[in-house]
Amino acid sequence: MPNPLIAVFTQSNDNGGDVFSPVKDMPVNLRLAMVLVMALAHPSLATEGEPDTVAVAEQAATGAANSRPPPIASSVDLREVFDSPSTVAVLPQLSVGEAAIQKEAKSVANEEAQWEPVRFLLSAEEILRHPNTTRRIMDVDIPPATSTRLIWKPSHSSSGMAVDTPVLVINGASDGPTLCLTAAVHGDELNGIEMVRRIMYDIDPDKLHGMIIGVPIVNLLGFSRNTRYLPDRRDLNRYFPGNPRGSVASRIANGFFNEVVRHCNTLVDLHTGSFYRTNIPQLRADLGNPRVADFVELFGDIPVLNSRGNKSSLRAAAVRAGIPTVTLEAGEPMRLQRDMVDVGVKAINTLLAKSGMYSKLGIWDKPKPAFYDSAWVRSNASGILLSNMELGDEVKKGDILGAVNNPISNEQIDIVSPYKGRILGMALDQFVMPGFAVYHIGIHAAKETLKAAARKNNDDSEADDEDNGGMDDSSGPGARSADELMEEDRYDDE
Ligand SMILES: [Zn+2]
Repeated sequence: MPNPLIAVFTQSNDNGGDVFSPVKDMPVNLRLAMVLVMALAHPSLATEGEPDTVAVAEQAATGAANSRPPPIASSVDLREVFDSPSTVAVLPQLSVGEAAIQKEAKSVANEEAQWEPVRFLLSAEEILRHPNTTRRIMDVDIPPATSTRLIWKPSHSSSGMAVDTPVLVINGASDGPTLCLTAAVHGDELNGIEMVRRIMYDIDPDKLHGMIIGVPIVNLLGFSRNTRYLPDRRDLNRYFPGNPRGSVASRIANGFFNEVVRHCNTLVDLHTGSFYRTNIPQLRADLGNPRVADFVELFGDIPVLNSRGNKSSLRAAAVRAGIPTVTLEAGEPMRLQRDMVDVGVKAINTLLAKSGMYSKLGIWDKPKPAFYDSAWVRSNASGILLSNMELGDEVKKGDILGAVNNPISNEQIDIVSPYKGRILGMALDQFVMPGFAVYHIGIHAAKETLKAAARKNNDDSEADDEDNGGMDDSSGPGARSADELMEEDRYDDE
């Protein structure tokens, strides 16, 4: 069987790529840069200004040798600090003050290429076999076998609201496709940030085929405030591909889409459940798109939920632009969950290996994903939700999934499953109202069945868009079909 990704890439790939290979460790300066990014962006990581930290920040930025030992951070609290053994030994603990932040912002504005790529020696044999080329991103040339950190700057039309967004790039020694990893489009979703860090810092550019672009925190404004949204309460993931003359959210989306996302041959957008809900690690994919349907095969043993997603999400917009894209959901917002991060990293490493970009140990043994349709089960009462279920549990029709307890009357109303399936997502125990989406049940289905249904669905909605303009029946303007109402009623946590 041919490698599905080759088919995925060859259809719209400017850079070409059909090559393979193997592991090593990562440039210290990229690690430093990442700590800096996190420290700059998150208020809980920033401490009082210390003159020495300015110098350290600059050193991290330029990658130059620093004879002085970095200062010890006085406070590093991200609710649950992720003490990955592979990085703690290498990363100095930085504490970055206000002065450093300002100086950094200024110098980035003044100096285009302040992040020097790290160069590696290539074997002549490697160069001869499959040499990669220098690639240009955001007006910066990235030579083969180097990794670097760039700053995506929103255009003038949205400046004042937006902040400089770090973009990590690894350009492999050998030719191949460009995979993009984006995280924290919702600013309170932390698991994906850690996944990007772990993937990017574990790649040896010498052994990489193609390029990886990692954006750990797309919505820095939301992240710095610990919120899902932009400061104007807009959800960035409802504004892609954006409009240069639209709202702030739309302008940010548009700049990011054109300057970063359009470089991608494939894209994995990392998310978590929203608002006290949690998701088992899973892919969301529009199986009605043949290239997306091929793409999901490369992640190994992970649930794939057939869903077209909001049409203005980054995923949907990228798919429309010809970039096979999936959302990888894992866990809850506001937390860093190591078990979730581990699964996500494993899925992406499997993707890198199966697509021939990078091979390493620790990929899934089981090659095949499991496919699901899904439905939400809602509460019909208000009160305290107490769940009987855990993520990943298999349920039958009629199973009692949990109960809603009224704290005043002491009445208890059970939530009964109308479906046979698997709990792919669920609300955490909390106070709920009638209509609150509590359990997201995945219903097993054959991939081919889902593909056919999704294709039909996509065709129907395209026909709708062209033909009726919402005026085709007696219900008046804006009338929507039952299917569309159902679709809107689906709780969309992506
Ligand atoms: Zn999200």
